[in-house]
Amino acid sequence: MKASQHQQRALHNFAIDDGELLMGEQRVSEYFADPNVGPTFFYSTDAITRRVAAVRAALPPSVRLQYAIKANPYPPLLELMRNLVDGFDVASGGELRLARQVAGPDFRIGFAGPGKNDAELRAAVMDGCTIQVESPTEFERIRSLAAEEGCIAATALRINPDFELRGSGMKMSGAATPFGMPPDVASKLLPETPSTSTRFAGLHIYAGSQCLDATAISDAQEASLTLAASLLDAAPDHRVDINIGGGFGIPYFAQDELLDLDQVGMRLNALTTRFGERFPKARIVVELGRYLVGESGVYLTRVLDRKSIRGKIFLICDGGLHHHLAASGNFGQVIRRNYPTMVVNRLNESTTSTATVVGRLCTPLDVIASDIAIPDVSVGDIVGVFQSGAYGPTASPSQFLGHPPPVERLL
Ligand SMILES: *Cc1c(COP(=O)(O)O)cnc(C)c1O
Repeated sequence: MKASQHQQRALHNFAIDDGELLMGEQRVSEYFADPNVGPTFFYSTDAITRRVAAVRAALPPSVRLQYAIKANPYPPLLELMRNLVDGFDVASGGELRLARQVAGPDFRIGFAGPGKNDAELRAAVMDGCTIQVESPTEFERIRSLAAEEGCIAATALRINPDFELRGSGMKMSGAATPFGMPPDVASKLLPETPSTSTRFAGLHIYAGSQCLDATAISDAQEASLTLAASLLDAAPDHRVDINIGGGFGIPYFAQDELLDLDQVGMRLNALTTRFGERFPKARIVVELGRYLVGESGVYLTRVLDRKSIRGKIFLICDGGLHHHLAASGNFGQVIRRNYPTMVVNRLNESTTSTATVVGRLCTPLDVIASDIAIPDVSVGDIVGVFQSGAYGPTASPSQFLGHPPPVERLL
């Protein structure tokens, strides 16, 4: 199979033996030899470890690197990340429990989320994690819950900036969005954050996600630090965390460019040096989800049937959008495009036809990849959907149609 550049880019994170994807030491056909093995997300420890090392090498050493666990909260993967990054970011009470359970008592955790209920805030206060405060009313609730519990809550203010991350797949700022508070609201709230039950713990500015343009990321980081500096001038304490978000994207589609990580690192070096001269006690934090784990995962599903309908070949697989909504294009894509998708037990074979790969749900939305070049595929062959290490099972409607959930393996 002659892989396109898009496919080669996806494959280079994985080991191949004799035309077959390797899962750890095992060939993919051996793994699927047991007919009871179902669709599986395979995450590569090596690929994740290499990616985190590359990010560390590019970013200034003073920057704290945190992992946003919503990208992939699979517990063995969290255990791996626990030893690779400096903190976790969580976005619900459930994620906080899981993160603390895996990470242990002293690990840094930040808790963001536009709607936290009292039970979640109480748990966060008692946990001692940093709470990203999303509004003045939320701050009041934290203050009184912390007073009830006799704790000092670490409160960081989440700012909804008036700039955006250009070219991001998902905008969190700029336009009217429900996250955080406008800068003027934050500057009024700042003097109240040191109280008998709260302390000022920093600022959180998150501009967007899935951006492949290094200049746009650097511009947003610069704007975030400028905004942070103007707020910090009036802040009660400078020994705090300045979380400037992340937004580093991965190449899902054929025409996507690779993010120039070194360019981001170089500009951030200059920015943090300048910021550090003014606020030597403040710590800059970058939080990443998909960039750390997304390219290290592949979704594997068996071909159950092959048929030709009005001249079009369909490969019908035992997986589908109930496991991997994002690959089907139904998780925020405007135009459906293919993730890199290959027949991973026949990587050496040349392609002979074009097929559309679908799942087995009774809905035309359940498309895994449309019109891809395939070798001579038969029932039992294995299709791999790459770039699947983030927003897989965690972002999919697993209850839909009552099929079993996917298997996950970190090797
Ligand atoms: C979702 C989210 C992230 C992670 O986004 P990625 O695109 O996966 O890197 C980080 N921080 C916050 C606040 C988020 O909401």
